Amino acid sequence: MSGGDNLDFEIRPNPAPVSDADRAAMLANPGFGRIFTDHMVTVRYADGKGWYEPRVEARAPIPMDPASAVLHYAQEIFEGLKAYTTPDGGVAMFRPDANAKRFGLSAQRMAMPPLPEEIFLKSLHEIIAIDRKWIPEGEDGSLYLRPFAYASEVFLGVRPAMEYLYLVIASPVGPYFSGGVKPVSVWVTPDYTRAAPGGTGAAKCGGNYAAGLSAQAEAIEHGCDQVVYLDAVERKYVDELGGMNVFLVLDDGTLVTPPLTGTILPGITRDSVIKLAERAGRRVEERAISLEEWREGAASGRVREAFACGTAAVITPIGVIRSLDGDFTIADGGPGEVTMGLRKELVDIQRGRAADPFHWVHKVL
Ligand SMILES: *Cc1c(COP(=O)(O)O)cnc(C)c1O
Repeated sequence: MSGGDNLDFEIRPNPAPVSDADRAAMLANPGFGRIFTDHMVTVRYADGKGWYEPRVEARAPIPMDPASAVLHYAQEIFEGLKAYTTPDGGVAMFRPDANAKRFGLSAQRMAMPPLPEEIFLKSLHEIIAIDRKWIPEGEDGSLYLRPFAYASEVFLGVRPAMEYLYLVIASPVGPYFSGGVKPVSVWVTPDYTRAAPGGTGAAKCGGNYAAGLSAQAEAIEHGCDQVVYLDAVERKYVDELGGMNVFLVLDDGTLVTPPLTGTILPGITRDSVIKLAERAGRRVEERAISLEEWREGAASGRVREAFACGTAAVITPIGVIRSLDGDFTIADGGPGEVTMGLRKELVDIQRGRAADPFHWVHKVL
C-alpha cells in the first residue's frame, strides 16, 4: 500500500434509516438488485494524493458533472459478491480476497489506479457491519455487495483520468431460483462476440456488459434465457455466457471448461468448481471447446451435462442450446447429477454447513 492511503473509515450513520417495519416488508420479497441498504462506502482518489476520505455514509445520489470522464469514455470497473448469515448467527463472505485481487487486475487493464486490497476488504466489512440488519434471514437470501470505481475527473481529453471514486453499495437478494433450480436455455449468437484477444474480456468492466446487451436481447428474441459467445477469431470455440463461465461434464466424469486466455472473465465460482472437483479426484480439463464438440457430444452421449457458473446463480444447469445450425439438448434437458452435486457442495461451504477445506469462507461478524 502506498504511503498516502488512509485505512480509517469515517462512519457517518444515516440519520433517517428505513424503519424496521418497512425493511421487513422489503426483505419479504427482495428480488435481485431492486432494493438497497441504508448506507454506502465512498473512497476518493486523486493523482499525487492516493486514496483518501474513506467513508461510510447514507446511501444517496452522487453529484456528477456532465463532463465526468466515465460518462464519455467508460473508465469503470466493478465486482460482485455476497454476504450470508451462517448457522452460528454470524455473517460470512465467500473468497472476498479473490474479488479484491481481481478488482486490482481489472483496474490495471482499464488504466485505473488499483485500490489497495486492504481498503477493498475493509470497505466490505464496514458496510456489512453497519447494514447487518439488511441481510435476509434463512437459507436462501444474501446481501449482494457491489464494489465499483469510475473516472470522476471533469475532463474530456482522452487519457486515463486523474481522479476516481470507489463505492460499495449493498442489495439484499432472494434465492436466485425460487421454486427450485431450473436449467436455462442458451442462444449461440452468430452476430456478436464478447471479447477479442487483447481486448477487455478478462476485466470486469461495465463496458463489456454494455456491449453484450444487444446479444442478450437477441437471445431473448430466440426464446432463450442467456447468450453464449463464441471466440472472436475463429467463431468456433465457446467462450462464456454474458456473465457466467461454462463447464461440460463428460461421460467419464471429466469436467471441461474454456481456458483463461484473456478473452473470458476469470470467475471465482469457476475457480472454486475446479478446485472442488480436483480435490474429489475428478479430472478437469481447461481447454478450448468447439460448438461442434458440444453438439456432437450431446448427440453421442459423450457430453452428459453442461452448466454455467457465477456468483449470482452459483451453478445453473444448461438444458438447451440454440443456434442458427439448429438446436440440441443436453441429455434429457434436466439438471444433471454432477452439476447439482457440485452446486450443493459449493453452497454448503458458502453457507457454513459443510467443512471448508480451502479456507474460502471469510467470517465478518
Ligand atoms: C462476474 C462474471 C463472471 C462470474 O464470476 P464470479 O467471480 O464467479 O462471480 C463470469 N463472466 C463474466 C463476464 C462476469 O462478469
